[in-house]
Amino acid sequence: MSFRQSLREFELATRPIHPESKAALEKRWRELPPHAQTDNQLLGRCAVGCEGTHGVFPKCNLTCSPCYHSADANKVRIDGAHTVDNVDEQMRYLRGIRGPRAHAQLIGGEVSLLPAADHAAALLAMRAQGREPMSMTHGDFDYDYLLDVVLDDEGRPRFDKVSFAAHFDSLMRGRRGAVRPRSEAELHPFREEFARMFVDLKRDHGVNRYLAHNMTVTPSNVDEVEEVTRAVLEMPYDMMSFQPAAFIGDDRRWREDFGEVTIDKVWERIEKGAGQKLPWQATQFGDPRCNRSTVGMRVAGVFAPLLDPEEPKDIAARDRFLAHHGGMVFGDVPKPVLAIKVARAALAHPGDIPPLIGLARRVVRRAGGLRRMIRAARRGKLSFKTFVVHNFMDAEQVAPAWELMEKGVVADDPVLKETQERLGSCMYAMAHPEDGRLVPACVQHSVLDPLENVELRRVLPLVGAGAAGAVSPSVVSRPSGLTPVRSTRRAGA
Ligand code: SF4
Repeated sequence: MSFRQSLREFELATRPIHPESKAALEKRWRELPPHAQTDNQLLGRCAVGCEGTHGVFPKCNLTCSPCYHSADANKVRIDGAHTVDNVDEQMRYLRGIRGPRAHAQLIGGEVSLLPAADHAAALLAMRAQGREPMSMTHGDFDYDYLLDVVLDDEGRPRFDKVSFAAHFDSLMRGRRGAVRPRSEAELHPFREEFARMFVDLKRDHGVNRYLAHNMTVTPSNVDEVEEVTRAVLEMPYDMMSFQPAAFIGDDRRWREDFGEVTIDKVWERIEKGAGQKLPWQATQFGDPRCNRSTVGMRVAGVFAPLLDPEEPKDIAARDRFLAHHGGMVFGDVPKPVLAIKVARAALAHPGDIPPLIGLARRVVRRAGGLRRMIRAARRGKLSFKTFVVHNFMDAEQVAPAWELMEKGVVADDPVLKETQERLGSCMYAMAHPEDGRLVPACVQHSVLDPLENVELRRVLPLVGAGAAGAVSPSVVSRPSGLTPVRSTRRAGA
């Protein structure tokens, strides 16, 4: 490589925002519906949105209700080579459209049913396309499996850091040791044990982690959100994500009236569990009817939000950051490169330094001051936490709304119009390189998964299973007769 070429590469590597990221963000912003182009919107300003895989390893070995997997999911064979090929193709497509950096979920069924080597290969394929992968799991696997994913044949780590999202709730059936949990509290030891595997991984092999805790919420367990929040906040999870259940996926697994659980209801319970208000209005990912989130520092039990929506100086700092530095990547960048990037950004916008330092000071103040932070850090009581509620939509609305969107028609029906608005500002997309489309995960699960599973049954039949010719795709809709709320109960009740 010539000196000039090396210099050009160095300049690009240390440029605060990669030009392809900038272009992808601008495109994302232009394509957002006007109602989502708000001052607090992060899509198109510092994030392109999350991505997920599909049409790979649809099988799962638990029997939860609800379950978003298609009714045919368990009639498809797990096949590592097929998974890795498809993941690679989907990620290449995303790289082309959404730029060199994004968060992507390795999802589709239960990821730990993949042989460990194939799981690792899929993660490497995602990383090769600039994706920060997160493996989505029910968390019912052993430390040995984790080691087999993370370490190569010589016992050396394949990754500096791994991200896993583990789903735990009392609606899940078949977990080893908790086949039919009667309360959320019954699952706390399993939540703890899962997270501890990653603490051990760091101790034994120096591999860092990012851990998310996911929980589906229905009328049965909504009152236990408070208890789960309180307990999981003390565990080494970085993110707590709650998903009010939607009528998507396998209609044999639908129970209760999921519509009773709203984002507001869940957020209220999370706040009770955290023991304080969790302000979220300063930032928004996509449509507020889909997502709510906040990020901050937790210091000895006190959550200090990164941004206070009621503090004008915080909002001014946010606006400066989004205007000048949105799209800058901080994670997984070698420290010297990051230092040069930050220095170049500061030189380009010196006026941003005082407001951003002011913001950092206010966060420290909200956390109780520097001394308190140092004391908490020494006791292992300082961490960053993110709270999320993600509200999927029912297949009954998504299917017709999407059909009209594909024809370029805006729905007259107010419910379908709202559905279209949400789909148009979706922050969670899946790639279809075969026909050059990105689709919202709601569409994937409601409309496309059943069709894909028919094909997957043909391509990857179970050994000894009959031909897939008899299956036909169906888009399911909300049932008329819902079963009553089940008897999961609050801890100690
Ligand atoms: S996947 Fe569905 S619920 Fe989630 S952001 Fe997209 S449209 Fe909204």
